[in-house]
Amino acid sequence: MIRNPIPWPNGAKCAVAFTFDVDADSTCHINWLDQVDDHVASVSLMRYGPEIGVPRLIDMFAAADVPLTFFVPGWVAENYPETMRMMVESGAEIGHHGYLHDDPNKQSPEAERETMKRGLEILESFTGKKPVGYRSPTHANSRHTLDLLVEHGFLYESSLLGDDIPYEMDNGKGRVIEIPCAHGLDDWPNYMVWRDFNYFQSPKAPSDAYRLYKDEFDAAYRYGGMWMSVWHPLVSGRLARAHWIGELVEYMKGHEGVWFCTLEEIATHVRALQASGEWTPRIDKQPWYEMPHPAIRDRLPKAAE
Ligand SMILES: [Zn+2]
Repeated sequence: MIRNPIPWPNGAKCAVAFTFDVDADSTCHINWLDQVDDHVASVSLMRYGPEIGVPRLIDMFAAADVPLTFFVPGWVAENYPETMRMMVESGAEIGHHGYLHDDPNKQSPEAERETMKRGLEILESFTGKKPVGYRSPTHANSRHTLDLLVEHGFLYESSLLGDDIPYEMDNGKGRVIEIPCAHGLDDWPNYMVWRDFNYFQSPKAPSDAYRLYKDEFDAAYRYGGMWMSVWHPLVSGRLARAHWIGELVEYMKGHEGVWFCTLEEIATHVRALQASGEWTPRIDKQPWYEMPHPAIRDRLPKAAE
């Protein structure tokens, strides 16, 4: 099914990366500004992530000997230093996830540039190492994001949805590996129900979400793909959901040849394959079109003369 399958290390049949975005209450502050004090319950819900979810997940995954990747907004690192230290000490990879979970598409190019720099500096002050990976808040990559990633020498990005396996984005000045997300492997649509965020759906039973995640794993295993969660400690770290994560890890571990890894390890592996000539990823040149596309240019409102 995969036309140009990637050879995983040591003949593994698939790669599995558990990644969590530690957003905490950053989104509350950016959405409600000085009104955030009146959203006490919402903030408590979001604080569950760094206070309860992260320590629980770190313990669970350490016991299973499975590595973790956390994407952390700079503001969260600053305001939850103990959680940040716990994540670093656990040996997890720490990736860039903006500053205050700012949506790059709602920022000026200058503000996006500043956010990129600020997030890098804050994370490095905790880890002693420049992050090599980036995940855009709410998958909101702007037309400038790839240029900034190339400028800062990021090894990989993980917000887009353009393939089943890693590929390489090329902006004409440099390349960044994309480790793509999959719709079925986000936890927010399965579980979140909260009036303040306009989520009125019925949450899934964790055993049903487990089936969804398991189906994604079965396909990755069978066809040589990859499985990567895009989860949140405040959502998936809840008791019953965490229990079913444990069941899932056990199910995966019951299979021969599963490579449990961080995203940095996947990207480093891709680079090694390229260097040895063993495998070449698909190259995705961006921007994809001359913008605005010539077909719609004459439909755009004319500038006032
Ligand atoms: Zn996020």
